[in-house]
Amino acid sequence: MTQDVWVFEAGDAAAFIDWIHANEAGYFVNLRTDGIVAGGRPSPMMHRADCGHFKGEDHLNWTDNVKVCSGTQFMLRRWLREEFDSEDTLPCDCLR
Ligand SMILES: [Zn+2]
Repeated sequence: MTQDVWVFEAGDAAAFIDWIHANEAGYFVNLRTDGIVAGGRPSPMMHRADCGHFKGEDHLNWTDNVKVCSGTQFMLRRWLREEFDSEDTLPCDCLR
């Protein structure tokens, strides 16, 4: 069975970077645990895999937050619903 969703724990930046480089057409959510909370759960921001915020010298939160990656936004939302009983996400600028 093909894996649909990959979860990279905080501190697992190298594996996350490998994933976004190998899946540039995919998507990921950044699960912030450092303050932004909606409904008692981490408020995840949705990004394209090639989001500029996570490249080069300008990377943000490489290691601070959990990253959940998938080839489709649909699969990410399904994962979020199973984990948090909500599929709400904040859209990054890279999705506009
Ligand atoms: Zn983004």
